Formats: sequence, structure tokens, C-alpha cells
Amino acid sequence: MKLIIGLLFTVTSFLSWSIEIAYSVHMSKPQNHYFEVEMSISQINQKSLIVKLPVWAPGSYLVREFSKNINLVHAFNEQGKELEITKNAKNAWQINTTGIKSLKVRYEVYSFELSVRTSFLDLTHGYISGSGIFMYVDNFKDTKGILKIFPFEKFKKINTALPIAPLELQGDAYQAFEFENYDQLVDCPIEIGNQVVFEFNAAGVKHTVAMYGEANYNIPLLKVDMAKIIESETAVFGFNPNKNYLFIIHNVPGGDGGLEHVNSTTLSVNRWTYAGADYLGFLNLVAHEYFHLWNVKRIRPIELGPFNYDQEVYTSLLWVMEGFTSYYDELMMLRTGYYSQAEYLTKLQSLINYAEGSVGSRVQPVAHASFDAWIKSYRPNENSANTTMSYYSRGAVIAAAIDAMIINKYNGTKCLDHFMQHLYKTYYEKLNRGFTVAEFKNELAIFTGQDMNDFFKKYIDGTEIIPFADYFSKVGVTVKQNALTRASFGASVQNSGGKVIIKSIRSNSAAEDAGLSVDDEVIGCNGYRVDQAMLEGIMNGLEVNEEVELLLSRDEILFSVKVKITNYTRPQFILTPTNSTEEAMKFNYWLR
Ligand SMILES: [Zn+2]
Repeated sequence: MKLIIGLLFTVTSFLSWSIEIAYSVHMSKPQNHYFEVEMSISQINQKSLIVKLPVWAPGSYLVREFSKNINLVHAFNEQGKELEITKNAKNAWQINTTGIKSLKVRYEVYSFELSVRTSFLDLTHGYISGSGIFMYVDNFKDTKGILKIFPFEKFKKINTALPIAPLELQGDAYQAFEFENYDQLVDCPIEIGNQVVFEFNAAGVKHTVAMYGEANYNIPLLKVDMAKIIESETAVFGFNPNKNYLFIIHNVPGGDGGLEHVNSTTLSVNRWTYAGADYLGFLNLVAHEYFHLWNVKRIRPIELGPFNYDQEVYTSLLWVMEGFTSYYDELMMLRTGYYSQAEYLTKLQSLINYAEGSVGSRVQPVAHASFDAWIKSYRPNENSANTTMSYYSRGAVIAAAIDAMIINKYNGTKCLDHFMQHLYKTYYEKLNRGFTVAEFKNELAIFTGQDMNDFFKKYIDGTEIIPFADYFSKVGVTVKQNALTRASFGASVQNSGGKVIIKSIRSNSAAEDAGLSVDDEVIGCNGYRVDQAMLEGIMNGLEVNEEVELLLSRDEILFSVKVKITNYTRPQFILTPTNSTEEAMKFNYWLR
């Protein structure tokens, strides 16, 4: 598609390919949360231009409608005369450029959502997630250019993975950066403020950490621990493709995870995460986002780069991108020495029980979960647990099964690492593109020496339980599969302003059979008023076939229902090392 457009332009107006683009960003009054953006476009050779803002941020599969934050879009010619702009889509502005060689587009962006995928500005700092801030010229995303950041007078530091522009382009009031194309510009988030910055070397790469926010971190310890994870991950692939890498870390109440980029990442973590068990969680997040620099930013489905920023980009391979990355983030904790083999097996067992035990796992195949991430995973509702499953967890357990398959085939001399290396070399280095589902499946079939059609049909495009015993017994782990049955009410409740409100109801549960609905208020049980703790205490103590009468309020109307407790059965897996000398070598190779 991109090529076809290119050819048409080449025929009609060859010179139009040489436009030049420069951006400048001001933040004169951070308390109003507006970034002021100016986009200079020159060497124009056509009658009209369309400038656009993405509707989503790569790596986060939700249409976020960033243009809702855009105001005061104006365009001016060289003489400063205002040009006519017509808005022709929610995220597109068309400018009449008849007789015009260069122009400036000015707009402001309201930025008051601090997350790894959105932008933020206040008197303490600014954070730019480029896809919500920078417009691009339609059909000219491959144009390189310059970005000048004019920081607020009290902000002394700018951290981004964008290359710094040559000295002659720098100025007193701003810092200038270069970008090769629009994808690179928006793949490099920017932190502006008075952040704590430190550096360390690992795997031959210079790493910079920019810390926003007070937190209980220990810089010497972080340098050692982050470097260890980076070295372990680099060993998976045998090399590290970056020269520099930037961690932007937001230490905030809560924290909402991370977002991957080619040579940087933004992590949002609880400011007290750097001690105790939470610290392992932080290192796991580092391992996850860092692994993405290979898996999804370079090894990727064909749809994920170059990106279509205009709409949802559908791929059914997020179980590889996110699932394999989740498998490796835990495996790296093992290989780096933060988990013992026994701890790792316990974690894998919990993951399998979660992935296979979720109600939604029998409803939604992992390939569909990936494809529909835009409307399901990223837009959950009260019924999601009944209908959806996580491509992170199920993808991770599938990765474990495939790893075991490969280790067994190569008798403990090769593992999933080598398949990842193969994908990197073939698709990123040689072909410089992503792969299709068919190509991925074919590569896997060749590498494992097995026809993968049945595997895909049952476990990727289907919802069958993966026969873990078959896969893991070959690498020294015995898997016992039981059915775990317990008496269950089947509804979860929460306290809302002193009221006990039904939050979710499991499909085919006692609660559903009795006619309960999400949002019902539970007032009483068997004639007594209950609060959340009392209700949960009663329900958890009931045996199968026992009955209780609940007094409910729905839309201000009181009524009562009889609930008869039923059994709920889910699969349960228990993993233990086989301890046979035969498989010990493969076991120790897998969990090295
Ligand atoms: Zn991820």
C-alpha cells in the first residue's frame, strides 16, 4: 500500500518527496498543561497538504483519539499570513498550499494524563509521548527532520533516545534533536524537568536512567541489578543492537506498567516499589520492557511497523509478542539468579493454572484475544472474565511448551532462544520486515521439525487445554492434572459507599442461576443485614446444595432470591521435577 502511493507521487510530482520538516515545542506556562507545537514544512510542491495526528500509540492497542486534546490549529505562510485549513477527519487538517513553498502549522496540546502512553505537563515536569503530540504530513512519514525542545525556564534536563542534533543547530533557549522518520520521532518519548539521571554500562551499551518523582530507590543497587538483567537478555540473542538505551521511570502513586520502544522504555511504578518483594516486581518489569527491544520492536508481525497511525492495526500474534516476552521476563529472573529453579516452577505452575483455569480461556482463542485486543483486552467490562483470556499469560505458557518442544528435539543443545535468534536474523536483519502468521507458523514447524497445524488449531486458534504433561515430561518436569472442585456462589462483591454491590458474576454459577445481576445491591442474607465481609464469610462457608435467601435492591426496588450453592470445577496442574538422571540434563539446560 505504501509503495503504491509512493509510485503515484513519483510520477505526478517527484519533488514533493523532498519536503523538509522541523518541530519546535514550547511549554511557556506548564500549570495550564499545554505543549505549544510549531511544525515547519518547507520545499512544498503541491496544491494541498494534509497534516494528521495518530489515533493510537504503538504498543498500546487502543484507539485513544489523541486529537481530542488539540486546540487552536492554525497555518501561516512565509509572510505570516494565515492559510485556509479544512478539517476533513477527526485527526486530519487539510491546508491549501497553492503557490506556497513553506508554511508553519501551530497548535497546542492539552497534556494532563501521566501514563506511559500519554503526555503530561505541570510545574514539576513534562513528558512527551510523541504520537499524541506530533502531527505528521500525510504520505511523508519517511521524511527526516529536526525537533527543538524549548524547556520551561525551571526545567534543566531533557532525556530522550533521539539523537542530539549537531552543535551548529543548538541554541541557548532550546535543545535540538534529529529524527530519521516519523516512526523514530514518536518512538522516542521525552522527559523534561529536573529528574535524577544516572548512567551505567551493560552488554557494551550505555544505559541512562531518568527518574521522575521521589522514591525509595538505591542507585548503586539499581545499576548492578538492571545491568544483570540486561546482560542475561543480551545473552539470549548473542548481541545487543543498541549503542545507547534510555529508561524513563515515573515514580508515582500506583504506577501503570511500561511501554517499549526501540532504544528506550518508559516505566510507571509505585514510588515505594524498590524494596522487598515489590523490588523483584520492578526488576521483572525492567526485564519485560527491555526484552521488547528485540521481541516486537525488531522481531515483529508484519502489521506492527511501519505503522498505520490512522486506525486499529490488527494482528493475531500478540501472544508471541507479549506472551513470549512475559515468558522470558520470568525466565530472565531465573537465569539472572533472582529465582531458584523451585521458585520458578511454582511461578510457572501458578501461571498455567491461571491461564487454563480462567473461564474465558474456554471461550476466546489466544489468536482472537490478540486480534480483538482493541475492543476487548483494552476495553474490559464486568463480563470480560467470562469471555476473554489474556494473551500475555496464555502466550507465556504456550512459549514454555514450545521451549520444551525445542529443547527435547535438540536434546538439550538448543532452546527457544535459538528460534528467536533465527527470527531476528531472517526477518529483521535479512528481510527488514515483520512476518505473517503463516510465515511464523512455517518457521516454527521447520525449527521444531513438527507439523504445527494441529497445535495451532487446538491451542492458538482453538481453546483446548494444552497437554503440558506431554511437553514438560520430556524436559524433566512431571505434570499432574486434576480437576479442582469447590462449592461456589460465583459472584464477587465490592463495598461502594457502605453498600454491598455485585461486581461480577461467573457464567453458569449459582449467582447467575438465581437471577442475580451485576450492580445489584445485597442488603440482607437469611433475614440479617450484611456488610461485604459478612456476606463473603457466609458464602465461603456454604457447602454444595445449601440454600440462602438474599435481600436485594435493583433500581431502588427491593426483592429477594434464593441462591442454591453449586460446584465449580476448574483444571489444576501440579508441576514437580522428575529427578530422573535421563532428563536432568535437559531440565538443567531449560532452567539454567
Ligand atoms: Zn509487553
